[in-house]
Amino acid sequence: MGLKIVLLGAPGAGKGTQAVRMAQEMGIPHISTGDIFRKNLREGTELGQKVQEYLNSGALVPDELTCEIVADRLQEPDCANGYILDGFPRSLPQAEMLTEFLAKLGQKIEAAVNIAVPDDVIVERLTARRSDPETGAVYNLKFNPPPPEIADKLIQREDDKPETVKSRLATYYETTEPIIAYYDKQGVLKNVPGADASPDEIYQSIIDVLPK
Ligand code: AMP
Repeated sequence: MGLKIVLLGAPGAGKGTQAVRMAQEMGIPHISTGDIFRKNLREGTELGQKVQEYLNSGALVPDELTCEIVADRLQEPDCANGYILDGFPRSLPQAEMLTEFLAKLGQKIEAAVNIAVPDDVIVERLTARRSDPETGAVYNLKFNPPPPEIADKLIQREDDKPETVKSRLATYYETTEPIIAYYDKQGVLKNVPGADASPDEIYQSIIDVLPK
């Protein structure tokens, strides 16, 4: 199945968790702009230095820079058979730029899957999220506890601290949520409930709504 998919949803909705599994099972790349930025930050690249302040404060990286990074990534050979975009687009201008970029290649996004999770659940999930700095595996102290033997080495993302979570959610509602309507108008929006179900069940709901 070679679909071009966008995953939508607030931070903490479970986009990353689902994207990893979808990519594995569908054999297409998982492209997370957040992961790309964090990797550059860790490695201290020029891009990392440019985006550091935005990431640490939970603000969005400027559209032009973000779109440039994504356009480069989408031209890599492994994207020829489809991909899962996670955390991009995150604003209307980004969504429009993606549509235009793909149109030039005679392509389009075939499914925009919106993982819907209520606000109170999001805050609870984000502040309890921890990750393994070595493997990148993501756990949740409450909902998906890590094996005790690795608990000590887990870290919390700087932007998952409670102060920053609030402003990330505000940015989500102001700037990102409008793109749900954008993809609805294009006829490719699929809504999937992302709470009150296990990650396996949510995965199955996503597979069920994807074009066959
Ligand atoms: P994420 O891992 O998707 O939550 O992204 C982490 C951070 O990276 C965000 O809070 C932003 O600072 C930045 N970022 C990720 N994707 C985008 C995007 N599409 N546009 C602007 N900033 C982004």
